[in-house]
Amino acid sequence: MMQDTFKHKGLRQQMVDTLRANGISDEAVLKAMNEVPRHFFIDSALDSHAYEDRALKIGCEQTISHPSTVAMQSQLLALQPGMKVLEIGTGSGYQTAVLCRMGAKVFTVERQKGLFDQTRKLLSTLRYNARCFLGDGYQGLAEVNYGPYDRIIVTCGAPEVPEALMAQLKVGGIMVIPLGDEEQEMLRITKEGAESGEWKVEKFGTYSFVPMLNGKNMKQL
Ligand code: SAH
Repeated sequence: MMQDTFKHKGLRQQMVDTLRANGISDEAVLKAMNEVPRHFFIDSALDSHAYEDRALKIGCEQTISHPSTVAMQSQLLALQPGMKVLEIGTGSGYQTAVLCRMGAKVFTVERQKGLFDQTRKLLSTLRYNARCFLGDGYQGLAEVNYGPYDRIIVTCGAPEVPEALMAQLKVGGIMVIPLGDEEQEMLRITKEGAESGEWKVEKFGTYSFVPMLNGKNMKQL
């Protein structure tokens, strides 16, 4: 039922060429994004827009991130195959799939039950073996102890850096997180020691994400 046609492949190659022209240089990121069919992760009615640099609606008032944002966040992670990655905000599962394709062991958390159910099923159908969890990403993956993680990626706009996430990051590990309310600044935080404050922060420009919501709102879903 889901087809990856020559047309899709051609548009995807163009998308990757544009990413490269715009400064994405991590070949592993570009290769993964050339291999993951983004149109599988959106409503088929939007199929013709799948390879434009656009965020698109994925239901539950959420969006799949721009390809350029996925490329940037993936590149900032400086990922090596085999690394354990915690993702907060599974959404469509597209970013998850790109990380899997890059050889990461991905643990991903989504707070909306509808999206969680749909995306877990899709990822498994497409044979991306990410571990999917329903929960509040502010807590990271607290109850199930798969951490600490080499890398953490947050794909919703966080008003603060959640302490639980810093705690679940390995010393020497990297967290990529868009920080802010209305719009967000993309931060790369390197955890240099186990004590609080022992981290390096680098900034990579302004983005616009859907908000990271906390557990208090979960009952209304
Ligand atoms: N990586 C996704 C981006 C989806 S948008 C993709 O490529 O499609 C961000 C997602 O974060 C939404 O699905 C939203 O429901 C989820 N989210 C928001 N707050 C969260 C929280 N506290 N914990 C987990 N997920 C959260």
